[in-house]
Amino acid sequence: MEHDADAKPEKRFHGIAVAQGIARFPAFIQYTQDEEIGRRDVGETGVAGEVARFESALIATRVELLEIQQRIAQATGMQDASIFDAHLLVVEDRTLIDEVLRGLERDHANVEYVFQQVVQKYCATLEAIDDPYLRERVVDIQDVSRRVIRNLLGKAPQNPAANQSPHIVFAHNLTPSDTALLNRELVRGFATEIGSKTSHTAILARSLEIPAIVGMQGICQEIQLGDDILIDGYNGILILNPCAATLAEYERLERQKEQVAERLRLIRETASTTRDGRHIVLSANLDLPEDLLEVGVSGAEGIGLYRTEFLFLNRTEPPGEEEQFGHYRVAAERCMPHSVIIRTLDIGGDKEMPGAGTDREENPFLGCRAIRYCLENPGIFKTQLRAILRAATTNNIRIMYPMISGVEEFRHANVLLEESKQELAAAGIPFNPWIEVGVMIETPSAVFVADHLAKDVRFFSLGTNDLIQYSIAVDRLNDRIAHLYNPTHPSILRMIKMTVDAGRARGIWTGVCGEMAADILLTPLLIGLGVEELSATSALVPQVKKAVQSLEAFACEDLARRALEMDDSAAILEMSTSMARENYGDLLN
Ligand code: PEP
Ligand code: MG
Repeated sequence: MEHDADAKPEKRFHGIAVAQGIARFPAFIQYTQDEEIGRRDVGETGVAGEVARFESALIATRVELLEIQQRIAQATGMQDASIFDAHLLVVEDRTLIDEVLRGLERDHANVEYVFQQVVQKYCATLEAIDDPYLRERVVDIQDVSRRVIRNLLGKAPQNPAANQSPHIVFAHNLTPSDTALLNRELVRGFATEIGSKTSHTAILARSLEIPAIVGMQGICQEIQLGDDILIDGYNGILILNPCAATLAEYERLERQKEQVAERLRLIRETASTTRDGRHIVLSANLDLPEDLLEVGVSGAEGIGLYRTEFLFLNRTEPPGEEEQFGHYRVAAERCMPHSVIIRTLDIGGDKEMPGAGTDREENPFLGCRAIRYCLENPGIFKTQLRAILRAATTNNIRIMYPMISGVEEFRHANVLLEESKQELAAAGIPFNPWIEVGVMIETPSAVFVADHLAKDVRFFSLGTNDLIQYSIAVDRLNDRIAHLYNPTHPSILRMIKMTVDAGRARGIWTGVCGEMAADILLTPLLIGLGVEELSATSALVPQVKKAVQSLEAFACEDLARRALEMDDSAAILEMSTSMARENYGDLLN
């Protein structure tokens, strides 16, 4: 091969692959951390220049915010995109601006330094006041001040909206709220320094079908704005300046993946039934309401998990009853005749809702999350329940409560459900009084009382993402201990089996809607353990269907029986993997 003297050397980096796909675009660095700012003396004569820089930075920030606000309004159809109203108020805050100007006159320091000092003082004062509204403003002020500082430093704007051509985003971290805002036209991949496979950021990347790699410690230092990047979301490899041989290798891989996808498209309309005739209901997880179209295209039988919290992120006020009703009704109509399982609000953990206060907890995953938050905030919960009950007159909607830890919580939630029904009845508004209610089994305590729960619920859906985290005591976000996050741990197999058995004893079905359902290496185990429904992100539904169709339920049961006797998670995984390889090895390459 001819040697190109100008070619920059290729460099490879490895991380945790979280969303499949291959893309090659320039790098864009999105800063989510505070900048390190030093003090610089500008002297008395430098003050006017600093004031001018400050004014332009405020204007640039305002333009950025307006742009984002407009884009969100267009993408979601929301008129308000109200979170940015609060942000805009910060750049217009006269008290804050005047204090910066006074600081400049007094200290003769660089404006980013003075601005940061003022902002920190401001935030400390607000944080000390016992008022949830004022504390919430702290988050807005910090967010906006980062933008102002980046504009002062002449660095690229925070939001990729301003970068008008396709790119790959690099960031220290992206929260689920950040990820929900990514522009799919422009963001063709992302890599973060921290993160894990079952974080909601990773889950969203899969649902947005954006190739993504997380846990790439230090990557933002290695990459410059505009660098030529190839991201391989299948294997978790990031390639800076890919050479000709690498590009050829990836062209081959892409062709091969496209051939597999083509074969999978052919089975879209077929049933997910095993070779020996057991039907496994295969449904889709819906994260963002605008992804409804993908559910249909995937060949899924309806929605097995509607993560409604994404309707609540990136705004200051929760969505009202009418707005929610609209979303749920559209989903029910589009999925007809299949069912839509609407999970009630699961806020907290890594999903922060402005104003909910969950971001200030020491251990948010063990804190006021999901059903706990809803039971503490009956107003918000009942608004959602009324919207679901009204939408459910289509007769294909079910309700599912998240993070139920025992029977009392389930009963308490049902009391509020009954009250919601009565309110609708009193107002003469049509609703479905017979709606089926199920629970997620995602805490070990729920597994151990599954027999009690089974008396009153209509179905179980195993939230294995959380069940693994809570059972093995391994934070699902922490890449440092990602190797301990183990779906084939013998305890997890036993818990799945216990849940299935408790359900069967009462004639109710058990599904899996955690990420295990989408992992085709584990399909033999799950079918063998008696799981009757699998719910996976739309993009992965076709391959799960192919896996189900290639297996024999009878052989899977035999495999699960043997697995339940084993004490070694790696050996269990190997056993399930080899059955997968024998039956649908072409999907695993
Ligand atoms: C789970 O915990 O497995 C689940 C499906 O819920 P989430 O990932 O939204 O916590
Ligand atoms: Mg969960």
